Amino acid sequence: MSEALVEVSDLTKRFDVSSAWLERRLDGGSRQFVHAVSDVTFQIARGETFALVGESGSGKSTIARMVVGLIPATSGTVEIDDVAVGRNSRALRALRRRMQMIFQDPYASLNPRMRVGRIIAEPIRAFGLLSGRARRERVVELLEGVGLHADDREKFPHQFSGGQRQRICIARALASNPSFLVCDEPTSALDVSVQAQILNLMKDLQDQLGLTYLFISHNLAVVRHMADRIGVLYLGRLVEVAPTADLFSAPRHPYTRLLLDAVPDVEMSGRPRAAVTGEIANPLDPPPGCAFHPRCPLANERCRRERPLPFAAGGTLVACHAVEEGRDQPAP
Ligand code: SF4
Repeated sequence: MSEALVEVSDLTKRFDVSSAWLERRLDGGSRQFVHAVSDVTFQIARGETFALVGESGSGKSTIARMVVGLIPATSGTVEIDDVAVGRNSRALRALRRRMQMIFQDPYASLNPRMRVGRIIAEPIRAFGLLSGRARRERVVELLEGVGLHADDREKFPHQFSGGQRQRICIARALASNPSFLVCDEPTSALDVSVQAQILNLMKDLQDQLGLTYLFISHNLAVVRHMADRIGVLYLGRLVEVAPTADLFSAPRHPYTRLLLDAVPDVEMSGRPRAAVTGEIANPLDPPPGCAFHPRCPLANERCRRERPLPFAAGGTLVACHAVEEGRDQPAP
């Protein structure tokens, strides 16, 4: 058994967005593909929280969905506990119980016609784990474990606030005793005052149950609070992977630096900052070379021509020609 619980290798997803065949014949158009995710590789150790950050359209949620097998990869592999996700096997069916997903919108992910007790009991029933009184007791235990009350099992989702509904989603995710949770922006639909409560609950549950998290967020403050390591995505590619403390104290990739410069400086450090400029490129027609070059202050001719490959710089993996050539540091 390997040290890593999750192994993602060269994961790639292209979506075919071509118009219909007859339309293409009449217009003379060609097939078109959105390059949502390209050659993404990372591992997550048991009990670790690995976060993926990036702007909207960077491919975070597509990776999350491929990791749990909700959508198939175009190429590449995902292995959880040495079982390949995506290949229909008995081992994968057993694995499904051990991986669950928490979605961004707790309003949309709960069936409004079902009572909360039935919603939480659903995975227990589906995987044939418990029945009768033992199942009812387990539902109460799960509700209380996420800070709700045993009587809440008789209520419907609309009777709860947004934060309480996300607690219900967490209880449902934990109902099948998973070891790995994929959390796709789990607090971004919630009020700021409630976000910290949910994040702290998730951290406490991780400590109690030894959970492993893949945490997806566009919010750097949230991933700083939650993650052990962070991967930064730009246009479907990982441009930097680093331990959280290193990423915030010494970001290497120019895009990571721009993202950090956009975070309010609450410590009033007085550090000079650059504004994030430009828009993320069109994934239908990504720029040649480094996809970040139209926005990068360090771009040169090589960047416009040749795509940078990730290399190890200390404990950080970074894909950038300027870092490799040592021209990312200010002159002494
Ligand atoms: Fe900027 Fe070039 Fe590095 Fe891309 S490879 S981030 S364009 S310096």
